Amino acid sequence: MAIAVYPGSFDPVTCGHLDIIERASRMFDLVIVAVLRNPSKKPLFTVEERVDMLQSAVCHLSNVRVDHFGGLLVDYARRQGATAIIKGLRAVSDFEYEFQMASVNRKLDPTIETLFMMTSNEYAFLSSSVVKEVASLGGCIQGLVPGEVEKRLRGKFRETGGNKFGQDKGN
Ligand code: ADP
Repeated sequence: MAIAVYPGSFDPVTCGHLDIIERASRMFDLVIVAVLRNPSKKPLFTVEERVDMLQSAVCHLSNVRVDHFGGLLVDYARRQGATAIIKGLRAVSDFEYEFQMASVNRKLDPTIETLFMMTSNEYAFLSSSVVKEVASLGGCIQGLVPGEVEKRLRGKFRETGGNKFGQDKGN
């Protein structure tokens, strides 16, 4: 069985992520979408909220599972029996960092291959941080994130009066 892990912060999941997940699910028997627990970052959504939103976004895909992990990605991937790590690439600017990570991960475990998938053109500009910024300023995010995420973002910024964004520029 060919298993791939698609890791990320998913704070929150966007239509760009979902596009990669759907395309990857056509190539692998099982895709595990893995939310990184990173205590050094200050995300907008908790790990549980991010997992929940992902689960509702992928419920139409029978071979996609959502999980969360901490520690080394290759250790997690090996425990899951995965042979591939999927990464999405939006622009040249993503490349340098991803190239470095893929090289390090190959050094740590040469049996796990990193596969890069090009973003679909319509999502090339899309990131979780851009979505949070637009939502925090009251802009329309319809079509950029799944419906459930749109609802939760609106709720989040209503709670905080729209000023919560900005703690986590990296995402
Ligand atoms: P972001 O950079 O939006 O905060 P994550 O850290 O959650 O996203 O990224 C998880 C993975 O999804 C990474 O491999 C990232 O390059 C990829 N990704 C993010 N947004 C897109 C998009 N719009 N199209 C394709 N891949 C994407």
